[in-house]
Amino acid sequence: MKTTLKTNITVKDICEGFVYNELEGKGLFGLSGKLTIQPEYQRNYIYASDGGKKEMAVIESVLKGYPIGLIYFNKVSESNSEVLDGQQRITSLGRFITDKFAIKDENGMEQYFGGMAKDKQAKILETKLTIYECEGKESEIKEWFKTINIVGVPINAQEERNAVYSGSFVTLGKEEFSNSQNANIQKWSAYIKGSANRQEFLECALDWVSKGHIDDYMSHHRFDKNITELKKYFNSVIDWVSSVFTDVESEMRGLEWGRLYEEYRKKAYNPSKVSVEVQKLYADPYVNNRKGIFEYILGGSVDTKLLEVRVFDEATKKAVYATQTAKAKKKGESNCPHCAIGHDANKSKIWNFVEMDADHVAAWSKGGKTASKNCQMLCKTHNRAKGNR
Ligand SMILES: [Zn+2]
Repeated sequence: MKTTLKTNITVKDICEGFVYNELEGKGLFGLSGKLTIQPEYQRNYIYASDGGKKEMAVIESVLKGYPIGLIYFNKVSESNSEVLDGQQRITSLGRFITDKFAIKDENGMEQYFGGMAKDKQAKILETKLTIYECEGKESEIKEWFKTINIVGVPINAQEERNAVYSGSFVTLGKEEFSNSQNANIQKWSAYIKGSANRQEFLECALDWVSKGHIDDYMSHHRFDKNITELKKYFNSVIDWVSSVFTDVESEMRGLEWGRLYEEYRKKAYNPSKVSVEVQKLYADPYVNNRKGIFEYILGGSVDTKLLEVRVFDEATKKAVYATQTAKAKKKGESNCPHCAIGHDANKSKIWNFVEMDADHVAAWSKGGKTASKNCQMLCKTHNRAKGNR
């Protein structure tokens, strides 16, 4: 790979013919059309989010004469280049010069480029950037892109994969899943964490269809001309969740719906009964982990471990152990009620406190409360055998 350092390109040169696409959230071209600012494998423009603090910081740095960091171009032909690293900063410059956003002046007043004093405008336009222009094989450039970190906002795993497996499949995938204008995003957000811009919906869709093998899947489908399977699978999962669980709860966001779909999609559920159960568990003060409610219900309301039901505290356990042991000693039988009715050597064994666990006499799932009256101590073996039903 060949690298050339360029120090004569100014902000004015870069922003010549700057185009910003609001719909795609991308800065597209610069350098009089010779520079592609956000090639397909680049992520969307994110400096405008978070109230635009990052894009304002870029302009303020330039005005103060601070460096804004190295910029890398990939030379794609004799006259054309694309931005490999620095597209967020270049898009900030282009958006400012075309009056897309304002900075605050010394008095806290909004100031657009168009309304600035001529000398300040000139200071920005004449600022020279430090640019490395690279030439090399596609694979070399991509491998190298994988290793650089974008200043400010580190690249995430899916943004990196989009760079490594760039091609028609990624382009189509981003059109569907990374477009914040897609009307479905809001519905999807009920079940998926993250943002479209940062490729987290695309990542989730890929994770589901590939059963966790995203890299394999992307590499296999890299040059596909459609994303039919990806879309179909994703929509099946979303449709399934939203038909089983008619309530939308915030704890549903980010659950492993792909895995749950595979595990439970063949079981039939009655959505209105499911809804009643969800509400009941949400109202239950003993349920510590609300995220577990959905899988608990899908699995037939058996595995209470998923709910992290609040257990008896130490004081309660010790008090119950003491009375239970005193009674057992009097009768000459084991202080584990299950051992006591057995026929083996443990029939009269007095277990130590640490050898026993607390158990709900009436199972929590059948309405048993986590109060001392409902607590009994069992030896560890019997407690495990009974399970937390
Ligand atoms: Zn026992």
